[in-house]
Amino acid sequence: MKCIRCKKKAVITLKRHNAAFCAECFLHYYRNQVLKNIQKNKMFKKDDKVLVVVSGGKDSMALWDVLVKEGYNVVAMYINLGIGEYSNRSQEVVENFAKKNNLPLIVKNIKEEFGLDIYKLSKTLKRSPCSVCGTIKRYLFNKVAYDNGFSVIATGHNLDDEAATLLGNILNWGESYLARQGPVLPQTHPKLIKKVKPLYTLTEKENMYYVLLNKIEFLHEECPYSVGARSILYKELLNELEEKSPGTKQRFLIGFLEKGKKHFKEVENIELKECKTCGHVTTTEECSFCRLTKVSNTVS
Ligand code: SF4
Ligand code: ZN
Repeated sequence: MKCIRCKKKAVITLKRHNAAFCAECFLHYYRNQVLKNIQKNKMFKKDDKVLVVVSGGKDSMALWDVLVKEGYNVVAMYINLGIGEYSNRSQEVVENFAKKNNLPLIVKNIKEEFGLDIYKLSKTLKRSPCSVCGTIKRYLFNKVAYDNGFSVIATGHNLDDEAATLLGNILNWGESYLARQGPVLPQTHPKLIKKVKPLYTLTEKENMYYVLLNKIEFLHEECPYSVGARSILYKELLNELEEKSPGTKQRFLIGFLEKGKKHFKEVENIELKECKTCGHVTTTEECSFCRLTKVSNTVS
């Protein structure tokens, strides 16, 4: 098979685009997709200070690399979640990349800095580890971005992630989630930093090709708490559909963003307050992060 761009021998086929690329032309396609997503959705400009959330996985490593190479003003942030070997290895991967390329990196450690233990908290609160983890991550990324004057937070969510989230939101008819789902979560309060997903049209497989072709080290193993997660089931179901009908995920997600989303409305009149303990934005008297910290003090 020949590369559709330069006619040399193709090494990568993308069934959903009915296309094949050589390595060089694939990277050209990939960069163009990212730049198009950023510009079309007005995510950020070259002079914006962007906080890139990195986990050591292929998606966030690809995002970090492509934004640096395209000359954006980025600083990466990594959170050590205290999940045994998984966290140790992922921190190592992220730190190696920063060191090798001389890039700025902010590292937070939830056990050492805040005394938080995801496993213990999830058992005590009878919540899933991912729900506890999500609360902690959302809070810390936003806090670091706000405290350090970042204008935007960029995450490595890809087409597979977004299509699976959409399927979950539709199956549960989560109207306000559907109204908010998209590549840009705008700033709704001076202390809530805008969030963007520049890779939302690129698949996991394409991010994998990107890191492999660029010889970027990444963590192959998944977080142990992801086993059995509902989102994995949705991804598997969508993969089956994609296999039989290439382009399904893209049609599903992009079709929703262009035609479906406008029919859903966010829940109105949610009063935003400032947490009585830390001052960050919350809908209750005290934010969920501060409440977790208190619970953690009582169980440790
Ligand atoms: Fe956190 Fe769950 Fe993701 Fe693990 S799988 S990093 S616990 S959200
Ligand atoms: Zn608080």
